[in-house]
Amino acid sequence: MQLTVLRRAGRLARPVSVVHDRSWVLRVDASGSPQVYEVECASCHDRCDASNDADATERDQWCIRHVGETGHTGYREIRTGLLRAVAHAAEGRGEG
Ligand SMILES: [Zn+2]
Repeated sequence: MQLTVLRRAGRLARPVSVVHDRSWVLRVDASGSPQVYEVECASCHDRCDASNDADATERDQWCIRHVGETGHTGYREIRTGLLRAVAHAAEGRGEG
C-alpha cells in the first residue's frame, strides 16, 4: 500500500493523504464534535479525567495535587479533536 501524507506546517486542517489510486482529504470534523482535553504526568503517565471544558482550571489543579503527592513536575497537555477522511471526489459536496 502506498501512503503519502502531506501536511502544511502547523495546520492539521488541510493534510492530504493518497492511498493506492484513491485520493482522500483529511479535515477537522465539522459536525461539531467537541475537543477532549487531558493532562498526563510525564513521569508516571497518570492522567486527569478527560473533559470537554476548554477552561484548564481543573486540569491545572490536578497537576498541582499530583506534584504535591508524587514530586513529579512534568506534564503533557493533550487536546484531541476528531478528524474526518473524505473521498477527494466528494470534496465540496458537503459530505463528511
Ligand atoms: Zn506522576
